[in-house]
Order: sequence, then structure tokens, then C-alpha cells
Amino acid sequence: MFIYDRDIRLSGMDLWLDAKRKKPFSFVSHAHADHSARHERILATPATLALARERRRIRRAKMKRPSRREPVEVPLDYNAPMRLDGATVTLLPAGHILGSAQILVERGGRRLLYSGDFCHEATSAAEDIEIPTADTLIMECTYGLPEHRFPPRESTVEKLLAFVDEAFADGLTPVLLCYALGKGQEVLRILTQQGYSAAVESETYALARTYESFGIAFGGYRLLDGGVKPGEVVITPNMRAVAAFTRGRPMRSAALTGWAIGGFSHRARSAHSAIPLSDHADFDGLIDYAAAVKPEIIYILHGPEEFGRHLREAGFRVGELSEKASPQPGDK
Ligand SMILES: [Zn+2]
Repeated sequence: MFIYDRDIRLSGMDLWLDAKRKKPFSFVSHAHADHSARHERILATPATLALARERRRIRRAKMKRPSRREPVEVPLDYNAPMRLDGATVTLLPAGHILGSAQILVERGGRRLLYSGDFCHEATSAAEDIEIPTADTLIMECTYGLPEHRFPPRESTVEKLLAFVDEAFADGLTPVLLCYALGKGQEVLRILTQQGYSAAVESETYALARTYESFGIAFGGYRLLDGGVKPGEVVITPNMRAVAAFTRGRPMRSAALTGWAIGGFSHRARSAHSAIPLSDHADFDGLIDYAAAVKPEIIYILHGPEEFGRHLREAGFRVGELSEKASPQPGDK
């Protein structure tokens, strides 16, 4: 049902899936840059289109570039089947970041599901995942090794809140290092719902405003554009982005990433500590997802090839893509 040529195209259709090279028409599962390129037309949820638009605006402003031609947007809501090239395509929430979607393609009685990045657990700022059944499954497997098992999410959130409280108790400003899209808004929501106030780096802030335009409410937060005030938590993708406002202030930092468990992360290495809050499924979550889809065959992407062996051991049939999947870790 699909053709693999370093990117995936649906057979007999003019639609690519998360193509990383420029295409006439691609589905974009979510607004992280490693799932897109400068396509002519983009099929995505309204939230993904808005977040991607905002990120292009921010990038242009940073690079001081004039605006280029914007892609043609083809918005599609969740669970709203659309006819396309003789098939029916439906987007379903993937639970990864706001707007993230799986795509289900049905044609001639066959069903193909492409997962995009997904999280099997409910998070604070993304839609909860809905998992359909399918005959063919193409899935991400970022945390596809058995050592990638995360602790229960509630205990990770408790660890995050304890980190913040202890920093304040020691007279330090807590600085949380989070990717600007997805993790930053999730952490902002967790903290502000608990009554903390946050000073937020500019890109994370702009994207939080986009989240708000889709009904995700945050409590007290502001753009970090001056000194940090007492009692504020700083949320930023890196220290460099806020250096001008935090210099000379006693701080303690924590990186929020799944790579805090059994892995490696620049973000984790540069911080005082690391907390394993992830917006991806862990190893068990990946296996559970495959079991819920009940596919005849699975193809894997965005993770360790070894995950294929674990799927086979769990009783699944795993197909080979003609080229090797990228082993690059994809967690934000
Ligand atoms: Zn992603």
C-alpha cells in the first residue's frame, strides 16, 4: 500500500507521509521539524498547521529573512474522513504534542496506519491518543529498546514539582530545559495548574500562545524579557536562549527528556539533573500500541532497528523497508 524511497508515498496516490525532502503534497503528522520539509501542499490538523506556521514566522524573524512562498494548507480535523485519490484518509489523535496525528488510509478493504510520533499515555497539553486497528502499520520506535522503560508519569510529575520546590527552598531559581514545542507547553501547563508562575523563553512563549488559541489554558506565565522575578520558574530550550536575563542569578537546572532513562541527551548532560518526562511511548508503550492495532505486518521508522527483533519475539510479523531506517534519536 506504500512505496519507500527514503520517504513514504502511498501507492497510487499523490500523498507522501512526513516526507523529509520537498514534495508536491505531504501529510505532516505534527509540527516538529524532523517530520517535514518545504512542501508545496501540506495535509495536517488545524493545530499542526498553525504551529508550523508560527515556527516558520519565528525562524524568519531570527534569520531576518524575507517571507518565502507559504505552503498551501489542507486542514483536516480528527475523525473527519476525507476522500483522496480513490482512498479514504482519516486523522486520529497521536497524543505526542498538540495537533499530532496518526493517519489511517483505507482503500479496497485494506487499512494502513501510519503512527507519526505518538505517546500512549495522556499528557497535560496534547489530545489523548485514539488507536484504530489496521492491516499494515508503519510506526515510530524512538524508545525501541527494553532499557527505555519510563517510571509512571505521576511519579515523574511529582519529581518535577519536588525539584522546583527544593530549588526555591535553597534560594535558587529553578530552570527547566525543555524543547520549545511540545515539552515546553506540557511543563508550563503542569506548573501553572499547580499555581506556580513561569517566565518563558520567547519561542516556547509564542508557541504557548498558539496552544491557547486552540483552547489549552495555562495559568500565570509571561515572556522572559527582563530579569527573573523571585518565585518564578524559568522554562527554556537551553541556557543560551535566556542568558541575557538570568546572568548572575543563582540557578539550578533540570532537563526534561525521556533520554534521562537509559540514554543520552545533550540537554540532560548540560543540566544539574534530568527528569524522564517524555512525549513518546516507551518500550512497553510501543509494544502495547502494536498489539492494539492488530496489524498483519509492521514497518518501523525513527528508532533502533533492533526494535524489529523485539516485535518478532512478541509474535508480530515485521517487514523490511528497502533502506535502513534512521537510527537518530527523535525525542524532543
Ligand atoms: Zn515529534
